[in-house]
Amino acid sequence: MNKQENKFYQVAVIGGGVGGVSAALGAARAGAKTVLIEKSKEIGGTGIHSPVGLVCTYCDANDRPINRGVHEEYVPYIYRPNGPRYCQTYDEKDLLERYKTLLAAEENLTVLTDTAVSSVVKTGKRIKAVVTPSGLVTADVFIDSTAEGFLSAAAGATFEKGRPIDGIMQPATLTFRVDNVDFSAFDLDIKDPEWLTWENMEKMWAQMQPYFDDLHKRGATSNPREGILCFPDRFGTTLLFNQTCVRNVDSTSEASVAEARIEGEKQVHEFWAAVKEHPAFRNSGPIKISPRLGLREGRRIMGDYVLTAEDCLAEARFEDMVAACGYFIDVHDPDTGLAELIRIPGSGYYHIPYRCLIPRDLDNTLLGSRCISGTHEAHGSYRVMSSVSAIGQAAGVAAALSSRREGDVRKINAEWIRHELQKQNQFTEGPASPMPEKDA
Ligand SMILES: Cc1cc2nc3c(=O)[nH]c(=O)nc-3n(C[C@H](O)[C@H](O)[C@H](O)COP(=O)(O)OP(=O)(O)OC[C@H]3O[C@@H](n4cnc5c(N)ncnc54)[C@H](O)[C@@H]3O)c2cc1C
Repeated sequence: MNKQENKFYQVAVIGGGVGGVSAALGAARAGAKTVLIEKSKEIGGTGIHSPVGLVCTYCDANDRPINRGVHEEYVPYIYRPNGPRYCQTYDEKDLLERYKTLLAAEENLTVLTDTAVSSVVKTGKRIKAVVTPSGLVTADVFIDSTAEGFLSAAAGATFEKGRPIDGIMQPATLTFRVDNVDFSAFDLDIKDPEWLTWENMEKMWAQMQPYFDDLHKRGATSNPREGILCFPDRFGTTLLFNQTCVRNVDSTSEASVAEARIEGEKQVHEFWAAVKEHPAFRNSGPIKISPRLGLREGRRIMGDYVLTAEDCLAEARFEDMVAACGYFIDVHDPDTGLAELIRIPGSGYYHIPYRCLIPRDLDNTLLGSRCISGTHEAHGSYRVMSSVSAIGQAAGVAAALSSRREGDVRKINAEWIRHELQKQNQFTEGPASPMPEKDA
């Protein structure tokens, strides 16, 4: 996947999950010479290597998409009339191929995989370069798409972690996929093109529930979750289980994540030993445990504005909006693992302002993943893939424009960002105008 390396760029995106891929595409399409740097052998991040299966709400209360842009290119089949009424799912292999195809199509974009950024070289409030095993990579503007806010923290930015009282983060989950599922054993007719309804999902979960209840009654699992959560692929052959719950994991500590993975695997095997007795799984082969533990939360970098749950629930509208989110506040309780979903009322969505993408302590860095500036509760909403994609694309566009203004991310404004985002098919609200080539 690596193209020829040139170590001087206008925009350097660190982290190749959905936020980073979207940031890189946004920057490259806005005309910037861009590099995407990913520490793993393969791009994709959480949505690919800890697949989650479900495409969460990307629409407002009237089913109007409020996350379009590159997200529409990743999963075009969900953008259909009445789409939001259904349980929309994706397959991680398909999505990874889509990412690769879209990245490869951009002439001025270089992708470096297997390249971990270990530290930064800084002057004042500016990152000059990032340090990688193959040397320094220099750019006018850097985007932190590491999810855990690693880049910004390495550059000395202020951050918060976890819930306010004790800093404990949402539980982690090790997901797994099961193949050859016989959906007719759940009384589901997958030949019906409309079969992926929420009603049918609940019917299926209810039929697996007694097996899980029995496991709890026997005291044979340490998983504190009570309900079943799994999603079929859209072709009706496999099920992706988002079932385990590992508490008190610090996603910024490798040791904590490694220990949690062991607990996650134990819970997977306990669960599967019980639930595989359902007739729907009589032809299923060995389960496929996801390569990485799914981490819901990490550092939240403090920016020029901090988005709160009150903003989300008040359907906040900001003059400097550059992205939107229509997903519930969905915080998995760090103690019980239970999630209470709070719907965004009224219009069903809120704005994410440009200021949340600007680390308050840095001048040439933007946030392009779930690490943007918000509270623990607000993060529980915008952390899903459609909104992280919109955040990443906005960061990419803003970085490309900033690279034409001495790399200073505060020398550009939201009207210019929205103008470019509109050209890239993204949903925006508020005035939009092209950035003048030179200051008047
Ligand atoms: C269990 C679970 C279930 C979820 N369910 C859903 C769901 O159903 N639907 C939904 O839409 N969302 C869901 N989410 C949320 C969503 O998947 C994530 O929040 C989102 O994918 C995060 O994207 P990201 O780009 O911010 O981070 P990531 O995808 O985590 O990408 C960050 C990337 O940065 C790289 N990186 C980190 N440090 C460095 C470094 N120093 N140098 C280079 N690269 C680095 C990492 O390797 C990684 O590839 C779920 C999350 C979890 C954990």
